[in-house]
Amino acid sequence: MIIDGKEIAKQIRQELRDKVSALLSEGKRAPRLGIVIVGHNPASETYVANKMKACAEVGIEAVRIAYEDTISEAQLLQEVENLNADNSIDGFIVQLPLPAHISEQHITSAIDYRKDVDGLTPENVGRTAQGLPSIVSATPRGIRELLARYNIPTDGKHIVVIGRSNIVGKPMASLLMQKHEHGNATVTLCHSHTVHLKEICLSADIIIVAVGHPGLLTEDMVSQGVTVIDVGITRVEDPTSPKGYRICGDVDFENVAPKCAYITPVPGGVGPMTIVSLLQNTLAAYEHIR
Ligand code: NAP
Repeated sequence: MIIDGKEIAKQIRQELRDKVSALLSEGKRAPRLGIVIVGHNPASETYVANKMKACAEVGIEAVRIAYEDTISEAQLLQEVENLNADNSIDGFIVQLPLPAHISEQHITSAIDYRKDVDGLTPENVGRTAQGLPSIVSATPRGIRELLARYNIPTDGKHIVVIGRSNIVGKPMASLLMQKHEHGNATVTLCHSHTVHLKEICLSADIIIVAVGHPGLLTEDMVSQGVTVIDVGITRVEDPTSPKGYRICGDVDFENVAPKCAYITPVPGGVGPMTIVSLLQNTLAAYEHIR
């Protein structure tokens, strides 16, 4: 069965719209998200525009806060402090990447974890690892939601996560191993130094691959009945496509899919869940602060 991330994201957007209109009808203000962008990176501009649009669709107010790339790290840290103290903003994100003279680690760590709707602060990551209430980074949150909404059990299952980035692999593994209804998995986290990747994958009930190498997960690496979640997004040149490229995941979909109980396509699987998770995190921050 193909996991339809677009459809699930649509359902969640409707749920969020209903929640926000209920808040408004109770006389409360709408949740408000700050989106900080530094410089004019075209990809970042597109991501920010998409996030603003997604907020508008569900009734979350998004405030774009733009700085030139000449801003110093100290000035940007001060702006983060201002947003931490601003009671009219429930949560905010700083769009990455930042210019080379600014440490992303310094900026991310300065965000108040209760407003950190990207779930990237050491506090939120640590709280997730300890099983405490936390804001979880968007992509792992979206994947957990997909598994839950498709009733794919994780309890007692062997889940192999390939990739150990701070935004996907590590928080994903951390979430799934928690003593929780949608956790309780036995998790193996693999990376570029893992030996016997194929043998490890063959013993998996669920494989989540977040690497960025098209075709990394091949048919001989998966057993019959496995669930495969493909996080990879890579642009591959394709002269036959009107855009001149196509988007590829990390899975050799054509040959792996016939062996799977469930599989996510690329595009249309994990991708649509990521923005919707940011909206859910914003609502969570709003409810937490109130
Ligand atoms: P990343 O920071 O690019 O790191 C890639 C990870 O893959 C690293 O941990 C690396 O290991 C591991 N790796 C590299 N080659 C490997 C191999 N041959 N075998 C096993 N592991 C290998 O990761 P990311 O930021 O999570 O991004 C991964 C992919 O997901 C990219 O395509 C990205 O565009 C996509 N992505 C999609 C979404 C979405 O919404 N769908 C969200 C975020 C990211 P080392 O640590 O040892 O180097």
